[in-house]
Amino acid sequence: MSHILHRQFVHSYPVAVAGDGPYVIDAKGQRYLDASGGAAVSCLGHSHKSVVEAIKAQLDRLPYTHSGFFTNEPAEALAEHLVTRAPEGLGKVYFLSGGSEANETALKLARSYWVEKGEPQRVHFISRRQSYHGNTLATLSIGGNRGRRAVYEPLLMPSTQIAPCYPYREKWPEEQDLDYGLRAADELEAAIRRLGPETVIGFVAETVVGATAGALAPVPGYLKRIREICDRYGVLLILDEVMSGMGRTGYLFACAEDGISPDLLTCAKGLGAGYQPIGACLISGEIVETLAGGSGSFQHGFTYIGHPTACAGGLAVQHAIEREGLLERVRTQGAALRAALEARFGNHRYIGDIRGRGLFLALELVEDRASKAPFDPQYKLHARVKAEAMARGLMCYPSGGTADGVRGDHVLLAPPFIISDGQ
Ligand code: PLP
Repeated sequence: MSHILHRQFVHSYPVAVAGDGPYVIDAKGQRYLDASGGAAVSCLGHSHKSVVEAIKAQLDRLPYTHSGFFTNEPAEALAEHLVTRAPEGLGKVYFLSGGSEANETALKLARSYWVEKGEPQRVHFISRRQSYHGNTLATLSIGGNRGRRAVYEPLLMPSTQIAPCYPYREKWPEEQDLDYGLRAADELEAAIRRLGPETVIGFVAETVVGATAGALAPVPGYLKRIREICDRYGVLLILDEVMSGMGRTGYLFACAEDGISPDLLTCAKGLGAGYQPIGACLISGEIVETLAGGSGSFQHGFTYIGHPTACAGGLAVQHAIEREGLLERVRTQGAALRAALEARFGNHRYIGDIRGRGLFLALELVEDRASKAPFDPQYKLHARVKAEAMARGLMCYPSGGTADGVRGDHVLLAPPFIISDGQ
């Protein structure tokens, strides 16, 4: 009997004992092709030698120091690596242990910025429906997963949500992508005006939506318009790239493809590639200078920020991505996988949409292609797809159910960047 409080109380999980490239192997010897990187984490597969060696070497030298006493070499090197490749203006990094902590940090930095600027009346965040930003109370507050929020609703801070950029469901029949993107982005302007611009801290969005909408990428022009609206009203733009960043879309920072730069950007998952738990919040010079020129501090902090071993792992992941040309590989393998999905499922009666960027792809499942009617949530299609795939030795990441604020079911695919053609 397991003494762990597992995610599902009445489910018995296979025991994972080994990794082999893109495969996970369980205690019975069954091999699972990891076509989702767990939850878009394991971008280098499960046995990348250079990352393992770098972590071992750091453990031999210095496993841990507290950031209140020291900085350390791997953290400094990883920060430099990230900011020199980041979208314009993001000049400092705050390291965390995962995605929720990174977003929690971004929210608090954004609030601190306005307080230091002498605008403490700014108290509102705007975010989007069908989004996920983490499981802490603050990140749940801005998230759109209704199922995860429900029990905690009375404890959450008020937040305002607008529609996601979701052309498959929201674009009008004769509308061009560009026009739809502007229309969707203009919902942000309306929300800011409703709340009163002087009360809004920031707008939070996943660059490409992951778990709650299935690789939902913005149409061209959408994020540019969002950036313009934020600038017009002096609202901070916070992009959550916890799932979509670190090369998953073929760009180290997903928003680079959209040609914009946020004020705060969070990443995790692929940053440590599963070899170490690590997240990061990248911060604009304007925010850093305002805090530095004001109180000179940021009231925040966790025990494991800038963890040397986690940062050594993260740095080795970055080096592997560059040495092995993996961003380019994500683009070519992503195009190949997409073409294969379209060939196999493009006309499938239950597949309504195939979408995504790079190796971040999804299939949306519908009961009726013409009306786009989703399956009855009672049917729990996404859970059944996951179980059937696992039984056949395949890991994919389905989710859905209107109770979660998700319209319909989808299957997310986020295989390791090293995936071969045959795999
Ligand atoms: N943000 C996004 C977009 C995510 O997909 C996730 C996790 O799935 C998180 C935040 C939370 O990250 P973590 O589970 O590492 O706390």
